[in-house]
Amino acid sequence: MTTEAPSTLEDVLLSYLDNVNEEIQASMALWPPDFTHIQVHEVIGGMLARQATLAKEIAAAPSTWNGHTAPILLRAMADVHINLAWLMLDPPARCLKYISFGLGQAKLELEHRRAQLEGRDPTDQEAAMMDGLEQWIDSQRATFLQDVDLGKWSGLSVRDMAREADCIDFYNYVYTPFSGCAHSMWQHVAAYNLEMCGNPLHRHHRVPMSPDLEPDVSYMLLAAKYWDKSLSVFSSTFGLDRGAPSARKRLLAAISSAADTAEAEGIEDPASENRDG
Ligand SMILES: [Zn+2]
Repeated sequence: MTTEAPSTLEDVLLSYLDNVNEEIQASMALWPPDFTHIQVHEVIGGMLARQATLAKEIAAAPSTWNGHTAPILLRAMADVHINLAWLMLDPPARCLKYISFGLGQAKLELEHRRAQLEGRDPTDQEAAMMDGLEQWIDSQRATFLQDVDLGKWSGLSVRDMAREADCIDFYNYVYTPFSGCAHSMWQHVAAYNLEMCGNPLHRHHRVPMSPDLEPDVSYMLLAAKYWDKSLSVFSSTFGLDRGAPSARKRLLAAISSAADTAEAEGIEDPASENRDG
């Protein structure tokens, strides 16, 4: 744990990264594996670690804190959260299902690569890659074998998963709006990559643009919020209590104390235009 009060934005971010690492490690230490259902530890632990990773990747890259890029990463975090919440309603069965779907996808990729060779021998590099993938699948086949499934891994839409897992608001207000950016849909492109032409004779058509945007710390705060949300669902599902203030709480305190210092010194507050998520 970082104890001294960080002052610059860089210090605030570095201690946030430390604190997230500490949170995931402390949480795993409180949650010993149940070897009769080891898939639960692997899948839920792995997904939780992925959520921590995404929060840290965003925190460490202020160049992504803008409307072009942050929503892509935040939408990935929304996916992790809804999947985790749904997995935790019936961990042993759903974690197996998650693994077997993933193995099916890997098997499909292997078949596509073989088909692409069209009868020629693979190069050494191709052969090594395909052998590696095949061994990775086979090493798990005994425990998790299932056919290639081309549908959704859970058999449900993300919306239905969110409804079952009691996080439909998160689906409606986070997952769906950020999907526009992640999939480059009209509602995103029109807002971020087109502007009205100034020529009145041109009947208000839109002109393509690629504006450079200033970093906005509120995107990073959303990432911290989603990581905290996933960790909270995990901790309450498994009855774990780390007994320490969360990385997010410490981050908000550090930002507010840095803002106070900046205000006293007459510097503009980086978090003043905070938006909700
Ligand atoms: Zn024009």
